[in-house]
This record gives sequence, C-alpha cells and structure tokens, in this order.
Amino acid sequence: MSRPGQWLQPRHGSKEAFDKDYPTIDTGGLTVACPGCKETVTLTRKSVQGKVGGWCKKCNRGVGI
Ligand SMILES: [Zn+2]
Repeated sequence: MSRPGQWLQPRHGSKEAFDKDYPTIDTGGLTVACPGCKETVTLTRKSVQGKVGGWCKKCNRGVGI
C-alpha cells in the first residue's frame, strides 16, 4: 500500500500549470495515495526546487509528499 500523499501547495489550476512548475521527469517513480480519491499516484515529476510531484487525473489536482 502506498503512503498517504498531500495536495501540492499552491494548487495548480491545470495539468499544464503543474507541468510548467514541475518540468523535470523523475523516473524514480515514488507512489503515494491521493489525499482525495485514495488512488495510487506515481510522482513522476520534479520541480526546480527538487520537490517531487504527480498529477491525479481523477481529482485533476497535483499530489506530492
Ligand atoms: Zn485523486
């Protein structure tokens, strides 16, 4: 079971905005449980500050740790 994730703050209005803030692909592939729908989200991207994040398609919202 994946550990619980957290919503990314500030909230990204769209997947495009998230992709812009998290421009690097991180193939490490940590997985967390979405805080909204509890489905597994793979954290495939990294921000310039080195934060990892993923996008929950169901909730249409960014998820991190
Ligand atoms: Zn979700």
